[in-house]
Amino acid sequence: MSWYDVVRRGLAAGPARRALASVESKSSWPKNRLVVLMYHRIDHDHGDGRYPGLISATPNEFRRQIGYLADHYRIVSIDELRAAALGSEELPDRAVLLTFDDAVDDFRRNALPTLSAHGAPAAVFVPTAFVGDPEGVFWWDAMHAAVTTTERRDEVDTPAGRLLLATATDRSAAYRRLRDYCLTLTNTAATELATSICADVEVQPPPAAVMDWDDLRAIESAGIACCPHTRSHAHLDHLTADEIREEVGGSLADLRRELAAPPAAFAYPAGLVTDAVTDAVRDAGIELAFTTERGTNIVRSQDPLALRRINVSRRTGFEVTRTQFLPLADRLRAHATRREPSPGQRSQR
Ligand SMILES: [Zn+2]
Repeated sequence: MSWYDVVRRGLAAGPARRALASVESKSSWPKNRLVVLMYHRIDHDHGDGRYPGLISATPNEFRRQIGYLADHYRIVSIDELRAAALGSEELPDRAVLLTFDDAVDDFRRNALPTLSAHGAPAAVFVPTAFVGDPEGVFWWDAMHAAVTTTERRDEVDTPAGRLLLATATDRSAAYRRLRDYCLTLTNTAATELATSICADVEVQPPPAAVMDWDDLRAIESAGIACCPHTRSHAHLDHLTADEIREEVGGSLADLRRELAAPPAAFAYPAGLVTDAVTDAVRDAGIELAFTTERGTNIVRSQDPLALRRINVSRRTGFEVTRTQFLPLADRLRAHATRREPSPGQRSQR
């Protein structure tokens, strides 16, 4: 068991969990402080080859999390955040915003019923070129399926180097190597590489993963904000200024064509952001944009196009995630940043 598992299990045990809840309830929050949670998928691992590391919670665990947040925090909407950012309203105390990247099809099935039961708003970030495309498979899912479901146990030569596939450990390492390599490519090149490796190791890519337009209209009617996340889930730091504009403005235009009222809020795919990307986002009329940089926000002090989030993952566990909400965690993070500049997270989608 790793030290991390020890901490996670310790915090989930009764006395520590009660102590954490007590610290949470006694912590005083600065005005307009906002925690933004970043979810991806809510599901079980069906063994279909899709990358299970992006399953943020199982449906049961998600029910527990949202129940807790609804009882102890105030789940706010994108509209409430926008009003606070513009200065026309204040955020309520203990404000938490729920975000879901990639608009994966399990959202409607596994997340929406729980959110609706609590009347909880949320934002879903949609890579619009994938919507309703039966061939629309994310490169990381195709790549993961290739190396983990292939029957091949010999070595495979790829542009990322020679991959070992003999053991489960080898195959996990092969996936991580390919993923890190793909993040240095354009999204198009990464997708082509994933397709070619699937063919090399004789694996069918997994099924398409993104909701279709009817799904998106249904979740929008249920109070979920559907927001742009580029068209092709582009690695924006690799594109020209014109290509960035096409991806960012195009995804907002797609949503405006198909849906009633998509907000001008955006999430940077894989957290990849440069000054040219921020310029294009601002020029597209986007008012709020979310990074994958871990942290919380004091709305109005924080750049509204560089909002920080806290990732939710099964590995971290909900109790550990909640310790990252605490105002004390901001001070520890600021102290750590002063001592050791963070290289930034590049692996979150
Ligand atoms: Zn994404």
